[in-house]
Order: sequence, then C-alpha cells, then structure tokens
Amino acid sequence: MDLNFFTLLGEIVVVLLAILLILICITLILGFYLIKNKKLIFPGLLLFALNLTYPTLKNLFKWFQLNDLLIDEISIDLRNRINREKFSKLDAKEVIMVLPHCLRSTSCPAKLGESGLECVECGGCCIGTIKCISDMKGIDMYIVPGSTFIKNVLKKRPFKGVIGVACPIDLNLAMMSLDSYCPQGVYLLRDGCINTLVDVDEVIELINVTQPPTQYSKEDFIK
Ligand code: SF4
Repeated sequence: MDLNFFTLLGEIVVVLLAILLILICITLILGFYLIKNKKLIFPGLLLFALNLTYPTLKNLFKWFQLNDLLIDEISIDLRNRINREKFSKLDAKEVIMVLPHCLRSTSCPAKLGESGLECVECGGCCIGTIKCISDMKGIDMYIVPGSTFIKNVLKKRPFKGVIGVACPIDLNLAMMSLDSYCPQGVYLLRDGCINTLVDVDEVIELINVTQPPTQYSKEDFIK
C-alpha cells in the first residue's frame, strides 16, 4: 500500500517536472525569438507559459549567473505587443503616465507634491520633454518616488490605460498587476537610484499612438 502510494507520488512529480520543462522550453524559444526578431508568434501560448514559469526562470537564470532581466524584458515586450491595439484606441485623456523620479537631474528644482514630483520643465532632464509633450496631448503624467505614490495616483484618478517607465523588474511586475488597463511600458536603459536613462523617442511614440494620433517629437519641447 505504502509502496504504491510513493510510486504514484513519484510518477506525479516526474510528470509535473516534465510539464514545467516543456513550458520553460516554450517560453525560452518564443521569448528569444521575440527579442531577437522583434516578431511575436503564438502570443497566447507565450503568455500562458511565461506566467507559469516566471519565478522558476528568474531563479534558474540567477543560479546560472545569467542576465535574469532578459525574462522581464521578454515579458514587457510581449505585454506591450498584446495590448498595443487596445491601447491605441484609447483617448489620450483616458491614459496616465507614470515616470520614476530617478530620471531627474541631480540639480532638479522640482518640489514633491501629493501626487509626486512637480516638474517645472527646467530642461535639466528628459522628464521636462516628456511632460511638455504629454501636456500637449492631454495625458496626465506623474513622477513618483515610490509605490505609495503610485497607489495614491491610481486611487484618485480614473483611467483606462497606462504608460509606465521603470527598471525591467518593477515595470514587469507593475504591468502584470495592471493587466486590465492595457499597460504599455518602456524599461530604463540604465537603472539605479540617480541619473537613470530612458529612450525618450520610445515614450513619445506611445504618447503619439493614443487618440487622436499625433506626430510629436523631442523637437516639440519648448523650454
Ligand atoms: S525637467 Fe523637471 S524633473 Fe527634470 S530637472 Fe527640470 S524640473 Fe526636474
């Protein structure tokens, strides 16, 4: 009796491990294809496999001392593509943007308000450019120093879509938790606590696709 029980248990464990291994292979093959070729195939399958294997893959990459941020980048790229069509149908006024305060210049004169930093568009960093274009488009932008501020913003301001900028791990987790708001994300090219870096053109491109479509660029920033 006991022997049968342990045999059955062993078989179940082997089957579960085999399923996990298959899902890991699917995630890695489709994920790297997406990153390398900028083309998404079998999006539903990749999302399903990635959601189930995310913690395991992150731990495996860390274990083998590989760049585990790749998993977050795959997830962000996947969610951006899956949500893009729905996002592009939203009116700009239904969209909010959340930027991290670490993007600002070390000599930033902005003060901290209830909803985050209040940028005065001094021209000291890219936030001023992004704010200027967001204002022209009608997208509310928030520069937040932490998750408490994000929660305040999300509670106060109704919205249907969100553009987020953050380091790959934080951005991916935020996009996963805001899945019903067709999130669009741009991850930082250089993260850290200060002097971080983002591809401003990529952020402006997301602003431009909201309704009505526009063609703003960095050159439209007026100091
Ligand atoms: S542009 Fe805004 S956020 Fe950047 S340094 Fe000036 S006031 Fe600060």
